[in-house]
Amino acid sequence: MINVACPVIGKKERQLIKEVLDSKILASGKYVTQFEQSFSKYCGTKYAIANANGTTSLHTALLMCGIKSQDKVITTPFSFIATANSILMCGAKPIFVDIDPKTFNIDPLELEETLKREKNVKAVLIVHLYGLACDMDAILELKKKYGFKLIEDACQAHGAEFKNKKVGSFGDASAFSFYATKNMMTGEGGMVLTNNKNSDKYGRQIINHGRESHSTHTVLGYNYRLTNLAAAIGIAQLEQLESWIKKRIEIANMYNEAFKELDFLQIPFVPKHYRHVFHQYTLRVNQRDKFIKYLAKNDIGSGIYYNTVMYNQPFYKQLGYKHGLCKEAEKAAQEVISIPVHPSIKNNEILKIIKVVQGYKK
Ligand SMILES: *Cc1c(COP(=O)(O)O)cnc(C)c1O
Repeated sequence: MINVACPVIGKKERQLIKEVLDSKILASGKYVTQFEQSFSKYCGTKYAIANANGTTSLHTALLMCGIKSQDKVITTPFSFIATANSILMCGAKPIFVDIDPKTFNIDPLELEETLKREKNVKAVLIVHLYGLACDMDAILELKKKYGFKLIEDACQAHGAEFKNKKVGSFGDASAFSFYATKNMMTGEGGMVLTNNKNSDKYGRQIINHGRESHSTHTVLGYNYRLTNLAAAIGIAQLEQLESWIKKRIEIANMYNEAFKELDFLQIPFVPKHYRHVFHQYTLRVNQRDKFIKYLAKNDIGSGIYYNTVMYNQPFYKQLGYKHGLCKEAEKAAQEVISIPVHPSIKNNEILKIIKVVQGYKK
């Protein structure tokens, strides 16, 4: 089976892990600081706060933007459940805005309609889904006009760019995940980025029980710290990230070329001046179940991200969200399928995947 995801672990990871173990400093330590510095430098922000995972990073980022109980926060319905959950973790209220069916990301036109209708929207939490940036020109224009806080969920988009600027550097705060299957990983892990000094200071308190100095706690905080062990893996992974992204783009380009004429599927859309980093290579097909079975029979793994919009999950239905709210997102949830695009796929496997997909009979 060619798996849909596969972490790459090299010599450097093993060497740094050994150094951490030998140092006996396993919790916070110098690798955490070093990882923060190298990650913020890579993304082009002033500050970075290492975090326990992507979900805690989102929670931290929202709190840094002042999100409180009952605040309205707009987001996309088409993402991993952690996106909307992080809003609920603040006691705030998610408002879902439909996606652009071509990019799968939040539709700026729909976003403006909602901003006109809903009063006092405190923040907008955008998601750069599958590794493709949102339309940042349009979203920043709306931010200027309506004055909301902007938070980026960049958990799938390490290194993705909009007009040569890296995602995670546009918002008031942004969140990354280093979960084992992401484009770079630390097992579990996360990072929050910001350019605001006070926000950085507050974020550091949030992840460390609200601590201001050794024995003084001035705000409500949590234990969202990253370990020195995880950070050591992250440092080694970040050094490889660019080469892995290039490989992902190369594979995606081969697929695009081979699949563009096929009438039973739609290849991913990449607008001009965007750098898609292909966390997922996602096709749209009509009879998805049949296609998945066909791939599996040929030993090709695939994944559905996501087979339902977040507000149709049982827990969200209990909160009162109704089916039919975001039509394009619901349609996408029926049709998307992601095939392997990770950098450890071998050339003959890429060729096999191409041949198998081309040989599919509707
Ligand atoms: C992975 C992911 C998260 C959550 O990250 P964890 O590290 O698993 O907590 C949040 N949002 C999106 C879009 C993700 O893909």
